[in-house]
Amino acid sequence: MTLSALEPWRFSSRLGEAHYQSALRRYPGQAIVDLKAMRDNMRLLVDRVGGPKSNTAVMGVVKADGYGHGLIPAALAALAGGATWLGTAQPREALLLRMAGIGTDRCHILTWVYNGAHAPLAELIASDIDISVGSLDAIDALAAAARKTNKTARVHVKVDTGFGRNGFTEEGFDAALDALVPLVKEGVIDVVGQFSHFSVADAPDVPEFVEVTNGQLETFNRFTVRMERAGIPPRIRHLANTAATLTRPDTWFELVRPGIGLYGYEADPVMGGPADYGLTPAMTLQAQLATVKDVGAGHGISYGRTYLTDDVTSTAIVPLGYADGIHRSASGFDARGAKHVDKPGGPVRVMTDEGPRIMRVSGRVCMDQFILDLHGRADQLGVREGDTVELFGPGRGEEYCEPTADDWGRASGTISYEIFACLRNRIPRLYLHAFDVFDARDVAMLKPGTLL
Ligand SMILES: *Cc1c(COP(=O)(O)O)cnc(C)c1O
Repeated sequence: MTLSALEPWRFSSRLGEAHYQSALRRYPGQAIVDLKAMRDNMRLLVDRVGGPKSNTAVMGVVKADGYGHGLIPAALAALAGGATWLGTAQPREALLLRMAGIGTDRCHILTWVYNGAHAPLAELIASDIDISVGSLDAIDALAAAARKTNKTARVHVKVDTGFGRNGFTEEGFDAALDALVPLVKEGVIDVVGQFSHFSVADAPDVPEFVEVTNGQLETFNRFTVRMERAGIPPRIRHLANTAATLTRPDTWFELVRPGIGLYGYEADPVMGGPADYGLTPAMTLQAQLATVKDVGAGHGISYGRTYLTDDVTSTAIVPLGYADGIHRSASGFDARGAKHVDKPGGPVRVMTDEGPRIMRVSGRVCMDQFILDLHGRADQLGVREGDTVELFGPGRGEEYCEPTADDWGRASGTISYEIFACLRNRIPRLYLHAFDVFDARDVAMLKPGTLL
């Protein structure tokens, strides 16, 4: 049985299996995304805020190519799970959603990172995409674009409640209101919403940070009062990311904006693991081993000799490197190597004749590959060139020995977000359960060759 067997993927059809084999020929690593997991994660978030009939709607944040999971598949999975909004940082990605055929009948779309001088504002307005404004320059540019388009721009006023990123400060807000009010009267701008972003909502157990979140909430409410007094009350207020959606009902307002939760992760491992919230990581990153060989004791591994084998052993090449988005900081050092520190490398699930084992990146991550010390003879372990190994997956329990992107975050000094957002597009993205989760119209929006 079968915790020890590498569970084969369940393909929807012969064609799905053919797509898989073709991806293996095309590239020796694959990111396999479970659309059902994403749909169910979104359902869970929608239920969290009171279900489809609640006064709180849910935006699926699909910026950065759906956090590396694929823009359109992530967007469609979010909609299948009950999201009625989609959000992207970059305007280009918001436009791509509409161009793919995700119309206004299905969701609102909001975009929030741009400069007023060069962004395709007229195109956004024409495509019924809601736009964030957080600077006077942006207001001017947006008004000009709306006049040119002859269509009212739907605006969400971004306020800085203490995050120190985009948005009007309390000090600068009178000038913003002075600029906005006449444009609303003229019908150039419709103030749809008011929003802000949390800085430390992912540390619900640290009293000091909870205080900061409370303070941001109070500041947010003060902004709302000022907008109401100016005669431009926001209809849709939104503030909550995944962490606040999971832990702070008082921040939900009319809309929440979870991103990382859709992909199956909590915002920070200090909050616990995905399973503590009923979330399922959607992406599995796997690769097929290149050279497997025997080496002697004291053999230097990779650049800089930061790792020396401590005994006769075998090594295996995993053909993914920093040019694929495997962080060089996930390198593994041992105290006898040139760095004289023990620093465990990123974890990889390797199937052996005795069951699955975690092996770790040994020595430095290279551009296209890294090396595993198998801590034993490959022929005795039953590890061979061409074997599929797993860098991370849903994290199916202790005995399964399956790392998650949180584990890679720890090994790389970063967070799960960066682990999958940095995976380069030369790694094929393949999708499970498209036919179970989507109707024919949505399936048609996906690249056929990516469907398993
Ligand atoms: C990325 C982002 C989110 C989603 O945050 P998560 O921590 O991934 O839930 C929400 N709102 C804004 C403005 C963002 O940039």
